[in-house]
Amino acid sequence: MTRGAQDSLVLGRRPAYPRRVTNPGVQTPREPDAFEILRRDRGEGWQWHRIQAEPCPQCGDNPSALPAVSLGPLAVERAAAWRAFLDEADDAYLRHIPEPGVFSPLQYAAHVRDILRVYTDRIVLGAERDVPTVPIFQPPQEVWEEYNQSGVDELAADLEAQARRLEDVGANLEPSAWSRIVVNDRGVYGVYTFTLAGLACNAVHEAHHHLLDAKGSLDATSQ
Ligand SMILES: [Zn+2]
Repeated sequence: MTRGAQDSLVLGRRPAYPRRVTNPGVQTPREPDAFEILRRDRGEGWQWHRIQAEPCPQCGDNPSALPAVSLGPLAVERAAAWRAFLDEADDAYLRHIPEPGVFSPLQYAAHVRDILRVYTDRIVLGAERDVPTVPIFQPPQEVWEEYNQSGVDELAADLEAQARRLEDVGANLEPSAWSRIVVNDRGVYGVYTFTLAGLACNAVHEAHHHLLDAKGSLDATSQ
């Protein structure tokens, strides 16, 4: 799918949700940590795993509407958009943390790189084993601080390499494998079930959503 077709798909499906979306039927954490509280206070309480079946209420991205086999190439396209942004942006802007609980653009880039890597690992695992369980992916604060010291070129190249790996893994999956299951045990945050296609949806959505975060343009697109 071309970039233009993808954009029109996203725009055409943008839902008219308010920014604060809650679902009283979903279990809430017993003891949300400070970061989760900050996210909740900023209206980011939407259960992100729902991206495997629904559009994101904040950015309108809807990867689950696409054929699963197209998600790898879409990840590569989105990594190229990150590369363009990282190449153009001012270094001080890239390392600036706007407010507590909001990441710098470089931290978002490193997080997207990690999500592409971790979720591709999980797709490989789910293709090899029946219903494996994987833990919450939650790097400690020190790691987030290290992210902000990353070299920009190195990080952009790594992000692109991880997207290409997702593309390669997806290209080699049997079509029926996309519906295989991986269980994500997130401890106090709940237990979620992903298909392999759902894992890929999450990875490509993170790449899109957090680029808007990094550019400071998420609010504008969600109105
Ligand atoms: Zn989004």
